[in-house]
Amino acid sequence: MLALRKTAPAPGLSLDEVPEPGRPGPGEVLIEVAAAGICGSDVHVYEWTGSYEFMRRRLPVILGHEFCGRIAAVGPDVPGLAQGDLVSAIPTIGCMKCAACAGGFAQRCESRRTIGLTSDGAFARFVRVPWLACIPLREGTDPVLGALMEPLCVGDNAAEVGAVTHGDTVLVLGPGTIGQAIARAAAWRGATTVVVAGLNDGARLQTARQIGATHTLDLAHTPDLASAFLAATGNRMADVVFEATGHPASISQGLSVLRKDGILVTAGIHAQPASIDLTALVRNRQQIRGAHASQRRGWEVMARRLYETPEAVRPFVSLVMGLDQAIEGFEQSKARGVSKVVLQPGLAMEAA
Ligand SMILES: [Zn+2]
Ligand SMILES: [Zn+2]
Repeated sequence: MLALRKTAPAPGLSLDEVPEPGRPGPGEVLIEVAAAGICGSDVHVYEWTGSYEFMRRRLPVILGHEFCGRIAAVGPDVPGLAQGDLVSAIPTIGCMKCAACAGGFAQRCESRRTIGLTSDGAFARFVRVPWLACIPLREGTDPVLGALMEPLCVGDNAAEVGAVTHGDTVLVLGPGTIGQAIARAAAWRGATTVVVAGLNDGARLQTARQIGATHTLDLAHTPDLASAFLAATGNRMADVVFEATGHPASISQGLSVLRKDGILVTAGIHAQPASIDLTALVRNRQQIRGAHASQRRGWEVMARRLYETPEAVRPFVSLVMGLDQAIEGFEQSKARGVSKVVLQPGLAMEAA
């Protein structure tokens, strides 16, 4: 089968013919991938910009951790899933032997692996995963939207970490998919003002407005974030600020418009340490919290939302392409002229 792989610790990806994963073992299922999204982290891996050195000893690996598809085969000891079921999958896989895993927190497992980063992922016709990773999607869910499950759940988890609630004023720094997903999640949680800021990011800010941002700021045109933010909110400071840029300077920028006792959630992957004024943070009693990945219960809620309100999330997807066009999709994602690019391995096969 055709697969998009990272084969060496250097810039680039390669589209290779590789063997199919084979029959699922005990507790595993084989999924025929319907759609898989290109994530910002995949672009970092493509460019090999740092922060992904942990992949080095797992190479070569097939990328793709945001996906959905139909179960093609079920291994022994798999209760409750059958061939033909439409599923997405939580990419974080725990060892299922340690106390963290027993408590249902695979994210805290020291031996966890990640589908599409440290074990083979979904930029291929088939991916083999533990059945426990699977989240059933309702029959009739658009598979292209099913590929949004993971980033939507990451955004929703960040909103939960930030304790966003009814009537909140929220600032999201960074209009990439995670920033967009946070904006959508904040709106779902009742935030009444959702401001998304970017830098030279017109296309993705437009998507942010389509998915629930009440205001957007392009800092290329309004370089002073604080005054532009306060003008947008009628001089209300933010209750919660989200940093989804990965730029260390954005932490201080975000703190400058955060109210006393407010929460700043950082969700960006930073290649450099940040420098912040801790005395101001202490005097303002502000909190900084880290948010990463997602929790299973959030996935079950999101599966229902995707089925019931597909139009709330459809604007996330800018382009749908065959797997054979993957490098073009990565280049478009890198240039930030598009929002989510979704690859469909089946499209390439139909054309062949
Ligand atoms: Zn992702
Ligand atoms: Zn574990």
